[in-house]
Amino acid sequence: MAFEGLTERLQKAMEKLRRKPKVTEADLRETMREIRLALLEADVNFSVVKDFVKKVREKATGAEVLKGLNPAQQIVKIVNDELTALMGSEAVALNKAPHIPTVIMMVGLQGAGKTTTAGKLAYRLKNEENARPMFIAADVYRPAAITQLQQVADSIDVPVFKKGTDVDPVEIVREGLTQAKENHNDYVIIDTAGRLQIDEQLMDELVNIKKLAEPNEILLVVDAMTGQNAVATAQGFDEKLDVTGVVLTKLDGDTRGGAAMSIRAVTGKPIKFVGEGEKMENLDVFHPDRMASRILGMGDMMTLIEKAQKNFDEEQAQETMEKMRANEFDYNDFLAQLDQISNMGPLENILKMMPGMANNPALKNLNIDPKQFAHIKAIIQSMTPAERTNPDLMNPSRRRRLAAGSGRPIVEVNRMIKQFGQMRKMMKQVTNGNFSGMQNMMGG
Ligand code: GDP
Repeated sequence: MAFEGLTERLQKAMEKLRRKPKVTEADLRETMREIRLALLEADVNFSVVKDFVKKVREKATGAEVLKGLNPAQQIVKIVNDELTALMGSEAVALNKAPHIPTVIMMVGLQGAGKTTTAGKLAYRLKNEENARPMFIAADVYRPAAITQLQQVADSIDVPVFKKGTDVDPVEIVREGLTQAKENHNDYVIIDTAGRLQIDEQLMDELVNIKKLAEPNEILLVVDAMTGQNAVATAQGFDEKLDVTGVVLTKLDGDTRGGAAMSIRAVTGKPIKFVGEGEKMENLDVFHPDRMASRILGMGDMMTLIEKAQKNFDEEQAQETMEKMRANEFDYNDFLAQLDQISNMGPLENILKMMPGMANNPALKNLNIDPKQFAHIKAIIQSMTPAERTNPDLMNPSRRRRLAAGSGRPIVEVNRMIKQFGQMRKMMKQVTNGNFSGMQNMMGG
């Protein structure tokens, strides 16, 4: 889980402050020391940390803060605001050309996730804008690179312009652009070569491609797991190419946070997207405020809500609410909800986006087995239409039949039915404005 250590340490520092009846200058100094160490440990660039701590201290030292109401809370807010500012304040949109095609050049070290990200981006543009992107395969050093791009492209049904490995990449790009114009593609995404390290020859080639293609966007893809190296890489590429944006990949991994927090401050270039998995849909717009709140363990409700909205049909959601309120929520609705939830990605990742859940020890080693979903579905699918619409019908002989039909033990069938009953009851209370049922469930 990304930022785990950092979140934990920052939360501890804040918690200590919160418990104080009164916050003194000395308390503040101690908190700032803890924040500084936490950031350094998370591999945030040294001068970025220094600057950050200085800014927070200046704002927090103001007499109004320490003497005012709830100083600890105000300090948390200052830290949150400064963290957001550090990462760029606002989400920055993809550059667009005034006339099609918009040309996007992907650059980055080998293994950073360039080709995968090119695919994710095309997939996103297709879905969000009904765009017709085309790829140009300009990595002529590794035949496998072209094959990989082709595979990605096939999986999302996007054409690739390629000329094998014996043609000069600049020439490939020239011809590819001509073809894209003829075919009226609205986006051209150029997948360039990467090396294990920045080298002169590669940079010259990229500069030449840039000169010819005049890209609207040069997206530098960097691996968040590499921490400070990612920042150094970004500086190296930016010096030569003057990149227009950064994509930070592998944020679903165990990254400490240094790259996410330093890149903008060090290079001045915005992080535009983040990669959070290997699948084509795992590319999200980078929102500095949401990232700050995630780092501070305050959850990322906005992203969660957006994910939910993408998967949930508004009309259906409204209908479900009505049914919950009227206590008419039945097994058919439950089945539909299970399908929607499984479309949102691994359940443990979703739970971790909720406020206060990121470092909840209960979630630490949680691995929700997708098979459990499948088992519940199998049981429901063994029900007759009458049983699905009338959950009160479940007598012992029907339960035995369900167990046989789904191949699940009877205890599991009983448990599922019991939980469904509790859930139904709770839904009714919640939708009628009585939250005590929910609180009981959360142990509060
Ligand atoms: P390239 O050499 O820069 O083109 O990198 P690739 O696109 O081949 O990616 C290298 C590896 O990283 C592949 O195994 C990808 O599946 C993986 N990868 C790329 N982006 C992400 C990400 O956001 N999360 C995870 N977990 N893996 C990623």
